[in-house]
Amino acid sequence: MKIIPKDQVIFYFNTTNRANYTVEDGEVFWVEADDCYSGQITDASVKRTDIDISIMDCAVGPIHVRGACPGDTLCVEVLAIDLAAQGVMVTSKGLGVLGDRITQPDTKIIPVHDGFAHFSDRIKLPLSPMIGVMGVAPKSGQFHCAVPHDHGANLDTKLIRAGSRVYFPVNVEGAGLAVGDIHACMGDGELSGTGIEIAGRMCLKTTVYRDRPIQRPVIETLDGIYFLASRTTLEESIQTAAADAVEFLMKKLELNFPDAYRLLSAICDAQISEVVDDNVTVRLHCPKFDTRIQTL
Ligand code: CA
Ligand code: ZN
Repeated sequence: MKIIPKDQVIFYFNTTNRANYTVEDGEVFWVEADDCYSGQITDASVKRTDIDISIMDCAVGPIHVRGACPGDTLCVEVLAIDLAAQGVMVTSKGLGVLGDRITQPDTKIIPVHDGFAHFSDRIKLPLSPMIGVMGVAPKSGQFHCAVPHDHGANLDTKLIRAGSRVYFPVNVEGAGLAVGDIHACMGDGELSGTGIEIAGRMCLKTTVYRDRPIQRPVIETLDGIYFLASRTTLEESIQTAAADAVEFLMKKLELNFPDAYRLLSAICDAQISEVVDDNVTVRLHCPKFDTRIQTL
């Protein structure tokens, strides 16, 4: 199986990046990645304020998916995520929703083994590995990898984990897939500004679809379809994701807008992915309550 090494990265998703790697439609492959600090925080003596921030928050790629054309939909199925032996969580002034209460930067190294993140001698957390950054080339313009938008990127959604399928709109030939920013654990919101940031490798499968066009990332799990939106405010993000979910319900169930809107309110959940990046990411969960709603 192909292993894509972590040495070719991008800092921006744009329409002009040249592909560094190529995979086939339907191929299964591994991608290696450093943590979001590009491996600069090796021990607790290294603070967030000590590192070169110009080389953090990159993504491995772009990976050219052969056969993907503008207007297609790329499905990235996450098959497995392997973690390195230690993760890191920093705090730093201004970082996260209560960052004004932090006066001194501080780094905590968190050993990872036996299925747990060993937060302290007394506290161990079951691992829930997820991928923070996954995206494709945008329709236009340029976005730093740390910024989520309609092309994906730093979605920081804990459902981008093994067993999930993540769909993206293809805007350029080959899609320009790039991934990184693995977390050993992260809660909804990413409230202190980081997950348990960790290096590792991801086993992915890329499939190109021509019959299910989308505008923004969509995640499919066993229990439902999730419509993701990343905008500057929570309200805008919820509105955008809700509109996508309603459109999906109208199409799949052949409903008019008022009925699809009622269903949205009756059975769908608005959930928060993260509130700490430049855009806020939400996901609108539509459960697989009907045989016609089993896939995107
Ligand atoms: Ca993040
Ligand atoms: Zn991260």
